[in-house]
Amino acid sequence: MTDRTEDLKPHALPPQDVLHAMDTNVSGLGTEEAKRRLEVHGANRLPAAPKRSPVVRFLSQFHNVLIYVLLASAAVTGFMQHWIDTGVILAVVFGNAVVGYLQEGRAEDAMNSIRVMLAPHAAVLRDGRRTSVDAADLVPGDIVLVEAGDRVPADLRLLEARSLKVEEAALTGESVPVDKTQDAVSADAVLGDRSSMLFSGTLVAAGTGKGVVVATGMATEIGKISGMLEAVESLSTPLVRQMDVFARWLTLFILIISGMLLAYGLVVGHLPFDELFMTIVGLAVAAIPEGLPAVMTITLAVGVQAMAGRNAIVRRLPAIETLGSVSVICTDKTGTLTRNEMVVASLVAARHVYAVDGEGYAPEGAVRWNDADVDPQDHAVLSEFARAAGLCNDAVLHSANGAWRVEGDPMEGALMALAGKITGGGSDPFTAGWRRIDAIPFDAAHRYMAVLHVDDENKRHVHVKGAPEAVLELCATQRMPDGSSAQLDAPYWENMVEVLAAEGQRVLAVAVGAPPSGGAHLVQADLPGTLTLIGLVGLIDPPRPEAIVAVADCYQAGIRVKMITGDHAATARAIAGMIGLKNTDRVLTGADLDRMDDATLSLAAAETDIFARTSPAHKLRLVTALQSQGLTVAMTGDGVNDAPALKRADAGIAMGVKGSEAAKEAAELVLADDNFASIAAAVREGRTVYDNIKKVISWTLPTNAGEAATIIIALFAGLALPVTAVQILWVNLVTAITLGLALAFEPSEEGTMRRPPRRRDEPLLTADLIWNVLLVSVLFAAAVFGIFLYALDKGYPIELARTMAMNTLVVMEIFNVFFIRNIYGTSLTWQAVRGTKVVWICVISVTAAQFAVTYLPFMQSLFGTQSVPLQDGLLIVGIGAVFFALVEIEKQMRLAFRNRG
Ligand code: ATP
Repeated sequence: MTDRTEDLKPHALPPQDVLHAMDTNVSGLGTEEAKRRLEVHGANRLPAAPKRSPVVRFLSQFHNVLIYVLLASAAVTGFMQHWIDTGVILAVVFGNAVVGYLQEGRAEDAMNSIRVMLAPHAAVLRDGRRTSVDAADLVPGDIVLVEAGDRVPADLRLLEARSLKVEEAALTGESVPVDKTQDAVSADAVLGDRSSMLFSGTLVAAGTGKGVVVATGMATEIGKISGMLEAVESLSTPLVRQMDVFARWLTLFILIISGMLLAYGLVVGHLPFDELFMTIVGLAVAAIPEGLPAVMTITLAVGVQAMAGRNAIVRRLPAIETLGSVSVICTDKTGTLTRNEMVVASLVAARHVYAVDGEGYAPEGAVRWNDADVDPQDHAVLSEFARAAGLCNDAVLHSANGAWRVEGDPMEGALMALAGKITGGGSDPFTAGWRRIDAIPFDAAHRYMAVLHVDDENKRHVHVKGAPEAVLELCATQRMPDGSSAQLDAPYWENMVEVLAAEGQRVLAVAVGAPPSGGAHLVQADLPGTLTLIGLVGLIDPPRPEAIVAVADCYQAGIRVKMITGDHAATARAIAGMIGLKNTDRVLTGADLDRMDDATLSLAAAETDIFARTSPAHKLRLVTALQSQGLTVAMTGDGVNDAPALKRADAGIAMGVKGSEAAKEAAELVLADDNFASIAAAVREGRTVYDNIKKVISWTLPTNAGEAATIIIALFAGLALPVTAVQILWVNLVTAITLGLALAFEPSEEGTMRRPPRRRDEPLLTADLIWNVLLVSVLFAAAVFGIFLYALDKGYPIELARTMAMNTLVVMEIFNVFFIRNIYGTSLTWQAVRGTKVVWICVISVTAAQFAVTYLPFMQSLFGTQSVPLQDGLLIVGIGAVFFALVEIEKQMRLAFRNRG
């Protein structure tokens, strides 16, 4: 069919001819037929960008300054025929590369599986019913529905278009949205002029449309041009880059120091070159934190997976870091703080207030007045409510196994259910022959939806539903119980809106009329003052219980929560109260915001927690205002117009279920379940990842610095090295990729969500961290030297003294892991000692490796070690324990001092 479409020039044909050519009709394909076509045409997707080959990926592990220095050292030692050293250096480099390669693969897989979770969906008609399918399953001939915010899933020939505007930058480079209609254009029109077509990959900026798929996958226009998905995002964040730069400077620093020491040893110490050089190599190897970059990447990958497990899908890796420092979360109300499972609870007419029973979307339930069931026959206005609710509606209700589901907007689903309750289940007999001929889709800017129908007598009817203020403006009259119209009693309606909203109900107004111009089109400007108000509809949308808990968590974590909603001020305030937001006395509306200049807004935004009747443009102003107060802002959004605010926010968060593609693409994070609780969970994970990166660094740096210090001291003191270069390499090999890695998998610390947020500009190497690095380095060097001198003093051979020094180093590293696991609290709890499975696996492996290198004859000859007697072994463990006690006491004192201050 692809070739046929090529010749077909669907943009130039009338819709009917295209349907015929594609062998389909307006009610869509059958499921079986779609399946058959999918086999013929293949999935509707572009091939992924080619992955880097495993060889290239493996080799790229060596592309790192730290590794270059190590490789150069290996070359020199080889040249000097110190084969063991060469072998061990190469083993370190190789071991690191293998671990880096495997973990990077895992990280890439994690990112890829997230891509799958974000796969776009499309609304299609199959078997005459609207359903949602994976965009990859679309086939030529499918009838697809699009609305503002959608990414067009395939090339479509439009059958219907209402106020449709599409941004085609992806295809034509033209960034101004272009108008689309169903009218055929000339056969030789260029892509940018084919206004009867929607092209795959372009973005619907406004309006709604319906079209037939004429090309999928590689046959689409975008497929012909690029033929590829965007490349996989690189696994890098500002923090990783900051560390990369740090590593480079560190390497340079180490090289300079090494050169100076070499000169000093030769000129001042008159040491033999051979021995001196090996010492300097040992120093370089000791000081270089070669495992750090890999472990940091792994920490991030573990974070991405942990967040995905909590329904927060990271689209851009740096978001992980930003999330940890978020100090204010601006959230939508509907669906995020509430369940977005709506039920109509009340109807307000000119003289009556009705209560509506029923649960979920089932079109069953009584309508009551004064606590007694009413017969809709006796209350004509109820049929009018039903008609407006049913006609001014794009949702479809499905029932499967007795459970009712909504396809489309939940609020419209609730209105469909209401219509069913009034008309007695089935479709309204009164509107049976009616056809919709035009519509003004809902838009957050005008806040209502209008439809134009023609009935079986060829009479035209307008129905409108929307926010009461917006609809009241369109009405001059109101419907009375006897079916007549009277002049609109605006104060009565405004008062009733407040009454319903104060109970937390979402209020809609519905109205009816004849088209002012009598024509076949609805024109927005013609509507004001022409309609008759039927009444108000109050809907309940209960708060999510988990959001209440999450809001409390955020407050504890020093994060402010602000609700920014399009809903009415009183409804917003009532829901805010139920959710547990502080500061519910003050509500600012979009109109209030419009009256403020930027400086006033900046103060008001910080002080207010509820913003009602806002439009997406207000969100953008609010983000900017809050940022100007030095806050790190997370902002949620779902509509196409929310994209600028999401981009501007420090962490833009889109809704995975009800969010538009445009919002998802602008966001850093997508919530798989639209739930506020997932934002709080993501912040917690963000903080954990940042902590873990810090832990990895504060574990690695003192180890390297301590080792380096030992060598420098020995050199200056003219002493034999307490630990030889190969032994240092061994220690780095076995510990960096076990103990260091264990920290990447650390769970959140107990008080993670009881701390205030980190400042956005807080440096990674804080004063505390630098102090800890210094302290631990000194303790390491002192202990290693101490035990070495003690052993020599006891008359032990130097090999044994070195073996003991090396083991002391490793034992202290193990204790240091337990210390660092709790940088914000005490390490002296049973839980801290019990550790995690990962930590113990690492500790046990390292211990086993140390036993091997100490006691196995073959290893002894390789590394120049000797068996350590039992009591000395115990002494070494004792030194580790003393070290742990010292650093822990120092930390406790520091924390206590700070808390008091
Ligand atoms: P939030 O911003 O928290 O998600 P919201 O869903 O109420 O809140 P909007 O979608 O901007 O925000 O809706 C604003 C108002 O417009 C609603 O309170 C309602 O009165 C009206 N409205 C919403 N959806 C529709 C619709 N499909 N048809 C008609 N009116 C609507």
